[in-house]
Amino acid sequence: MISIVLLGAAGRMGRAVARAAADSQGFRIKARVDRADCIPPAAARDSGESWSDSLESSVAAGDVVVDFSAGPATRAAARVCAARGVALVSGTTGIDRETEEEIRAAAERVAVLRAANFSLGVAALRRALAETIQALPDTWDIEIVERHHRGKVDSPSGTALLLAADAAAPRGLQQDALRFGREGRVGPRPAAEIGVHAVRGGTWVGDHTVLLSGEGEWIELRHVASDRQAFAYGALAAARFLATSSPGLYTMNDVLNPHR
Ligand code: NAD
Repeated sequence: MISIVLLGAAGRMGRAVARAAADSQGFRIKARVDRADCIPPAAARDSGESWSDSLESSVAAGDVVVDFSAGPATRAAARVCAARGVALVSGTTGIDRETEEEIRAAAERVAVLRAANFSLGVAALRRALAETIQALPDTWDIEIVERHHRGKVDSPSGTALLLAADAAAPRGLQQDALRFGREGRVGPRPAAEIGVHAVRGGTWVGDHTVLLSGEGEWIELRHVASDRQAFAYGALAAARFLATSSPGLYTMNDVLNPHR
């Protein structure tokens, strides 16, 4: 049984992880942590739920802290986990460089897994993309198309940028090879370019397609997340992986295929 301390427990992802843990074998949410003004009143909680506004005072209850909160909380979590010897799964995005460094420092003392996308499917897609690019000549064009709900504020998605970086690296391309949308008389498509296109509308949770186009043929590698539970189950898989891992900084690729 893996004991989890959930940071950002009142948020969308925090609640999704709690649901996923309740529907899975082998996990117990020992403590829920959120800002004092976000903690639900006693009448709105299930019996036995333990809530706190202090990770410091709750962390001892867990084998793993699962964090879907916000930058400052993530930074504090890295410090607290390192000091108390508790593993950390962190999915909070948009964190600053100091927080990244705090996470790296924590990974020297405890097992840490940080991912901008916890979906196991996206981790598998990235692996398939690496193999596909390796198998094809550089003359094949690569374009990435992502679709998200109308409320998403950043474009393109962090996952699309991750896929673009995955596609650029083996060809020796840099950030300036990425072409974010096209408009007007832009001329023929240069070979050393990776197109990235964002579609917005409706309630799409997350849809990423990598198109690889050759002479008279093409391949589409596509991942669709239809429910944020996909990220929650991925975070639990990461927690299970970390519960028996040595200190270090891990990725979802390690969770897909643990070499232990
Ligand atoms: P949300 O706003 O619904 O929830 C965030 C929660 O964190 C809130 O309840 C908030 O009160 C709490 N929080 C903020 N500061 C805190 C602090 N100092 N101490 C304790 N709690 C604090 O957001 P969400 O949709 O659940 O997403 C949370 C984060 O996870 C975002 O950064 C989001 O981009 C990211 N996310 C990552 C993945 C992934 O797969 N890695 C998937 C979805 C969302």
